[in-house]
This record gives sequence, structure tokens and C-alpha cells, in this order.
Amino acid sequence: MTIRAAVIIPAAGFGTRMNLDRPKQFLLLAGIPVLVRAIRPFLAESRVRRIVVAAPAERLAETRALLDGCGLDESRVQVVAGGRRRQDSVRAGLDALGEDIDVVLVHDGARPLVSAELIGRCLQAAIDHGAAIAAVPVKDTLKRGDEQSQVSATIDRRHLWQAQTPQAARRELLEKAYAVNGDRDVTDESSLLEQAGIPVTLVAGAEENLKITRVEDLDVAQRLLTGGGAAALRIGHGYDAHRFTENRPLILGGVEIPHSHGLAGHSDADVLTHALCDALLGALGRGDIGRHFPDSDGRYAGISSLVLLRRVMEMVVEDGFVVGNADITVVCQRPRLTPHVPAMGEALAAACRVDSAVINIKATTTEGMGFTGRMEGIACHAVVLLQQQRD
Ligand code: MG
Repeated sequence: MTIRAAVIIPAAGFGTRMNLDRPKQFLLLAGIPVLVRAIRPFLAESRVRRIVVAAPAERLAETRALLDGCGLDESRVQVVAGGRRRQDSVRAGLDALGEDIDVVLVHDGARPLVSAELIGRCLQAAIDHGAAIAAVPVKDTLKRGDEQSQVSATIDRRHLWQAQTPQAARRELLEKAYAVNGDRDVTDESSLLEQAGIPVTLVAGAEENLKITRVEDLDVAQRLLTGGGAAALRIGHGYDAHRFTENRPLILGGVEIPHSHGLAGHSDADVLTHALCDALLGALGRGDIGRHFPDSDGRYAGISSLVLLRRVMEMVVEDGFVVGNADITVVCQRPRLTPHVPAMGEALAAACRVDSAVINIKATTTEGMGFTGRMEGIACHAVVLLQQQRD
């Protein structure tokens, strides 16, 4: 029998515990939004026919744009309005499914490190037994505390498990559980199944399948992704120089800077962004910017160098790397660049999909010496460190 499974991702919860201006699943983890990382492994499971994301009602367009930007278009991932409670979001997801779906997997939008193997195990257990959840045995000794933070009891941890997601069930069982108990407040789908008397099988989860609930969890997740070791580091250096010319805007780090002269070049001649691109390509061992975007190619005439940087970043992600940090030194006698450094940092960080703290920009003069000192042009040096991701 051909199994047709669907995945519902409840992602309507707001990051109130993290004190954020946006939901935690929209945050970037090693350059890719947490939500996108939580979805991608399901695309590798051939039995999954449909993925429905239940997003905050006021952020539907933003969620759609975020997924589209990462190649998860509507043919693969549908976005619907979620509800106030997690179970309301899952209900909204269930309502959006076609009748051909036999098995439903529910997965937290804030669990970005789920593996394809774990997904396969949960799905198979639901097919075999009706309902299944990923869970890990409790390792620490459990204490019950009273209101004065005094230990009132030690709880026997044998047979205790921490529930994770995916949680999977044959569709008719999950529908039944919602029909019977859908109004009760619960924290996972398994609770509804249990209350409806439906047996739920425990499947060995994974410690690294963590849920991002605090800002520190992002650091832990990033370390797990990159392996944390020095063996997976790559360094790159870039250098570029462009000549001043009249009648062109001066663009540096994607920012237009008021000045009497701009820089000559085939693209927008953004010498800073070029140096950064070359450093990234160098770290990847992929040559230089001239090889990928030759100035003999008319498509690159006048192009914003941020577009080139975004393409280089696609190569970084494709090769399995994350930007650890970048340090950039612009050598320029005039104009004074310091006031523009924050804006340049923001523009480059956005193009690289990293936190702006990861990109450091410095400006220096050469005290009148050399071609930059004579104000013939601007030069720029960049170094980057890339960290390899797992997989
Ligand atoms: Mg150049």
C-alpha cells in the first residue's frame, strides 16, 4: 500500500520567552532560518506528499516570503494561519490537508536539527502501530520542588521520557483525538491521543534534536551544526582596488556614500564587496570573482555587487559552510568612511544572512602615501573564516 503522509509545522507561537521582535523560528541559524531548517529534512522523505506551516496570522506574507526565498515554494510547502494555542495551529493544518493523506506528522518549527532518519522511524512506527512520538529517556535525576525552592521529593526516573517531535499518527486517529479532546489545553499531540485512549509508541529520538527556546540554544545548535572543531575551518583572503572616476556614485559595502567621485568598474565597482566576495571564494577554493562574474559579460554591467555577494553566499551554503566571521579593511584617504561603517556592516550582513556582529569593517588612510594617499582610488582587504556544517 502506498502511504501518503503530510507534515504539519505549528509555527504560530511568538518568541516571548526569548524577548524577541520576531518569532524564534524566523531567526537565522548558520545563515538559514530555523523554520527552513526544520522543514528541509522532511523533503527528503519520499512518503511525505505535503507540508503545511501554520504561521502567525499577522505574519503570513512574511512567512511565505521567507520560505520562497529559501526555495520552498507553494508547490512544496503551504502556509496557513495558525491559532493561539499549538493545538489550534495543528487543527488549522489538519483542515488544510487533502483527503488523500493517510498519516500526519507534526513537527515543531523550532526544532531545526531533526534528521531524515528520525523522521523515517517515526513515520514507520505510526504506520505499524497507529501513533508514535520521538522521545529520549530522562538522564538527570528528577526532583520535585516546593514554593520555597526546597526539594520535596525525588522522582523515580525509570520509564520517564522527554517528548520531542516528530509526533506521527494515522490521520483518522489524530482526527478522532481532536474530535474527543480537542478543547483541552495540551502541550503536544500525543497528549490528545493518550486522552482518547489511543496507544502511542515511543521512538528513540536524538539529544541533538533540540528545541530552540532560548537565545543560548541557537549557539548550541550552531555548534552541533558546525561540529565545533578546528578541523572544519577554512580561511580566505581578498584584495581589490578601483580607480576614482567622475560622474559615478561611490558605492562601498552596498551603501551609496556622498562624494565628488565614484569608482570606475564594470559593475557598481564596490571595491569593499568585491574584496569580501574574493575572500569567500578563496576560502571555498573556488577561484575569484572575475572567474564567476567576468567583466566581459554584459549581464554584470552596472550590477549591484550585493547581488554578486548573494550568489557567492549561495556557493558557501551549497558547499556546506557557514561564515564564522569576516574582517575588512578599506584603504581610503577621502571621503571619511567611519560614519558609514554601521550601514555598510548591516548591508553586507543582510546579503550574507549573518548577524552584523559577524562582519567587522575598518577604514584607514595611508597618511597621504601611495595611490590611495594621492586619492587616485580606493583599495580593500578582507579576510573570512568559514566553518563547515555537518552532513
Ligand atoms: Mg573589483
